[in-house]
Amino acid sequence: MLKCLILTATLCAIASAADSTIDQDAYNYLHQFGWVGEGPDGSQAEPAAVKEAIKAFQRFAGIKETGKIDKRTERMMEKPRCGVPDVLGSGLMDMPIAELKLNTSNPYGNNRARRYTADGTKWTKNDLTYYYNNYTPDLSGVAQKDALRRAFDLWAGVTPLTFTEVSSLPADIIIEFASGTHSDGPWAAFDGQGGTLAHAYFPQNGDAHFDEDEDWTVGVDRGINLFIVAAHEFGHSLGLGHSSVQGALMYPWYQGYVADYQLPNDDINGIQYLYGMPRVTRPPEPKPDPKTDGPANEKPTKNTLCKDSEFVIDDMIRGPDGKTYMFMGRYYYEIDDVGIKVGPKKISKLFPGVPSNFNAVVTSPWSKRTYFFKGDRYWRFYNFQLESGYPKKTTDTGIPKGPNAAFVWGGNGQMYIVKGNKYYNFNEQEQKVIGAPKKFKAYWKGVPTPIDGAFQWRNGKTYFFKGRKYWRFNDSARKVDKDYPKKTKTAWFGCGSSDAIPSRLQQAGAKQE
Ligand code: ZN
Repeated sequence: MLKCLILTATLCAIASAADSTIDQDAYNYLHQFGWVGEGPDGSQAEPAAVKEAIKAFQRFAGIKETGKIDKRTERMMEKPRCGVPDVLGSGLMDMPIAELKLNTSNPYGNNRARRYTADGTKWTKNDLTYYYNNYTPDLSGVAQKDALRRAFDLWAGVTPLTFTEVSSLPADIIIEFASGTHSDGPWAAFDGQGGTLAHAYFPQNGDAHFDEDEDWTVGVDRGINLFIVAAHEFGHSLGLGHSSVQGALMYPWYQGYVADYQLPNDDINGIQYLYGMPRVTRPPEPKPDPKTDGPANEKPTKNTLCKDSEFVIDDMIRGPDGKTYMFMGRYYYEIDDVGIKVGPKKISKLFPGVPSNFNAVVTSPWSKRTYFFKGDRYWRFYNFQLESGYPKKTTDTGIPKGPNAAFVWGGNGQMYIVKGNKYYNFNEQEQKVIGAPKKFKAYWKGVPTPIDGAFQWRNGKTYFFKGRKYWRFNDSARKVDKDYPKKTKTAWFGCGSSDAIPSRLQQAGAKQE
């Protein structure tokens, strides 16, 4: 068995190439990115273990699992990528780079057996600062600052985090452009153009380093896009590891310049797992005063709705902006704590490109996506904008044609689509229904079918609507709360009393945010 000394990883890898059948560069790559570790005595991985490591790497990269360094695997290994290991925590180079830096005097020493998971690593505060140690000469100061600002904004937009540039140290995240061996020491040296593009440290360090030998660009389809690489590295700075989801920002390989980039679901889910949702700042709503409160616009329409005994709501959502919307025909109403605040207004003004007379709508609090369902198609919006490629056919997704309602349930945070007396569990990640449809009544006891609409309000509870009534569901008791159903008009529209506290606010434990 081959014995290796600390700091001779490359030599070991060369020697091991003779033992196993794989090329030394391939072995080095697997080692560098954490796919092969070594024994506590520094011994190299056995050929069988190397084969398993290759398979795991292939599975992660989304290519055919052959267990051999074939052409596809070679091509994958040649692609420009992030320098942070894919697998954290089980061996020599498997250590997150954060720990390498923290132990500069003895970089591999006592860390070998320590486990480290990105998931548990996060900042203990929400307001972070960043500092430029230097700049790249490839771009103007304004252009690079703008690119990095936008990269921070991607993460700030979906979390309670804030990022403030400071002009002197200390700072939480220090940004540096460097070539070859730099402040991290030889074990984290950059490698010239291509290959490793950048790397970053996990909290509580957060520093991000960019390989100056790359041709950094912004807004063009050549060179290496600084914005997208910085956004990825800041994901590490915040505690995220690599994702095997192709198209995710935290996928380790450089995916090129994308105009009008939006943070993918996988990354939103990851960062919200660590830090939660953005703070919703809603000033307390003033109670409407009939004498002064916009009598020309709002009162007549509200009164019309209040007098209409035939009304049926189509659906309700808590929108990507945290506001409550009720949909009826081609119109929507915004609802605050005391009743209708705005409306009616055309839905097509709020969601341009929305189909008229859709069947159901739901907004995911995690991905900020709003889905409209109509017939055998569905439309997906991100922050009120229709995403490219939509509408899509529901064929192959398992979504039922013309569903009655859709909602995210407070009990488990999952998305459900309801049609008739059945419900379907929709997985946003895969954009597919998981499992077979099940009986609605078996789960949501006491709620009548088919429902007209359903949604999760800001108190985390799920409300079901049918006809002119609504039901509030008790997630832990798995049944409708007592004293329900209640009148939708009084509680949600504010009909009949402009100053009484709507019944949905009593017992609901809802507080002004
Ligand atoms: Zn990375």
